Amino acid sequence: MQQRFERPTSIAQAARLLAAGRWAVLAGGTDLYPAYVGTPIASPLLDITGIPELRGIRRDAGGWTIGATTTWSDVVRAELPPIFAALQAAAREVGGVQIQNTGTVAGNLCNASPAADGTPVLLALGAGVVLHSDRGERTVPVEQFVLGNRRTARAADELVVAVRVPARSARARSAFAKLGGRRYLTISVTTVALVVDSDADGAIVGAGAAVGSCSAAPRRLPALEARLVGTPVHGDLAALLDRADLAPLAPIDDLRGSAAYRLDATHTLLGRALRQIAMP
Ligand SMILES: Cc1cc2nc3c(=O)[nH]c(=O)nc-3n(C[C@H](O)[C@H](O)[C@H](O)COP(=O)(O)OP(=O)(O)OC[C@H]3O[C@@H](n4cnc5c(N)ncnc54)[C@H](O)[C@@H]3O)c2cc1C
Repeated sequence: MQQRFERPTSIAQAARLLAAGRWAVLAGGTDLYPAYVGTPIASPLLDITGIPELRGIRRDAGGWTIGATTTWSDVVRAELPPIFAALQAAAREVGGVQIQNTGTVAGNLCNASPAADGTPVLLALGAGVVLHSDRGERTVPVEQFVLGNRRTARAADELVVAVRVPARSARARSAFAKLGGRRYLTISVTTVALVVDSDADGAIVGAGAAVGSCSAAPRRLPALEARLVGTPVHGDLAALLDRADLAPLAPIDDLRGSAAYRLDATHTLLGRALRQIAMP
């Protein structure tokens, strides 16, 4: 059966349509279409790729805005400061180039897969999700937006219009590491993301650490984040890592790895990322 399909050209038009009925929002379609293989698409489709202001990465005094239809290839190609090294590394790991050319950062978040490669990075960056509807606009921290496997805080009439990354100093940097069953086109066994910002004397003043694929939703590691603050950024950061830092994680055994293997691998990747971030 042919479903209704709309391609609005403004956020206001999209919000009006969302207020008036049930839609499946379509961005790159790289999660949405595979979910319907063998079954007809149940809802009318609202294609948001015709809204020009949704695409691109912009900087202002308060930080960066990543528009909702910004693709992974846009992230790879953008000229961004070192704090975005982790997001650019994650972007290069999402599927292959064809997927990166159409798949979006916001689509990855909204799909809320436990293995979404972008979400741990956005968590470590302290990012917020900007939701727009006819009722107004609100910004929700990523940890309160992704609630669990395929569950988000988005109401049916809301469109994610952007991801906001708060401003940090020019010294802020980040690292990302992913382990999969093979080098490319692989669903993660674990992913880690780290962000640190330091003052002019080299002391860490802000830290974000997050892990994906090891719980129903990617999780931050608050104990590690707290311990990093105040330590010298060029010191032996890996020595600060404690196995107890992984307590927020609840990995499962599945065909990609056992829970114990996931925790071991996560510990190893975090150590590597901490060494990488400490390098002058
Ligand atoms: C072959 C293949 C390999 C892949 N490899 C990886 C990988 O290595 N790592 C990884 O993390 N992912 C991977 N993916 C998954 C997918 O490519 C990414 O999650 C991608 O970022 C999804 O973005 P999209 O724009 O295609 O989302 P879509 O498929 O368009 O949408 C995904 C979901 O989010 C909703 N949505 C999208 N945008 C919005 C919005 N602005 N507001 C509200 N709701 C919205 C949709 O309604 C849908 O429910 C892969 C997919 C395929 C097919």
